Amino acid sequence: MAQDSSNIELEMGALDFVPYTPKQNEEYMCEKQREHFMGILTRWRQSLLDESNRTVSTLQDETINHPDPTDRASQEADMSIELRNRDRERRLIRKIEESIALLEVGGYGFCDSCGVEIGLGRLEARPTATLCLDCKTLDEIKERRQF
Ligand SMILES: [Zn+2]
Repeated sequence: MAQDSSNIELEMGALDFVPYTPKQNEEYMCEKQREHFMGILTRWRQSLLDESNRTVSTLQDETINHPDPTDRASQEADMSIELRNRDRERRLIRKIEESIALLEVGGYGFCDSCGVEIGLGRLEARPTATLCLDCKTLDEIKERRQF
């Protein structure tokens, strides 16, 4: 789980957006804020989908270009890394889609565990967050105790 969150930060590197500045007394998760996060989530998903399409065509090209067994062995190692990355990407895309679905029904941005506002800053850093920082921290402590 902890590993997952660092990957999210990694994958978000290519994404740039203007941080949202709410007006005074603006309601949390009002339409404008939901639009803001919808934009981030859909663009993020699209960039991941583009990336995995590119990976597929690279893999196909390389299969044709390496008849030598030594090359093939290193190519297979590359491929297993690629497949692991793609698996990670798929899981990330699934999480993004869950967040988009939540945005559509109007539950996005609130902690799954205690119901408080997760906060704009935390959501911009981690748009798929479903827990507030307190619950997340508690979760990680519990997780560590299991080992
Ligand atoms: Zn919470």
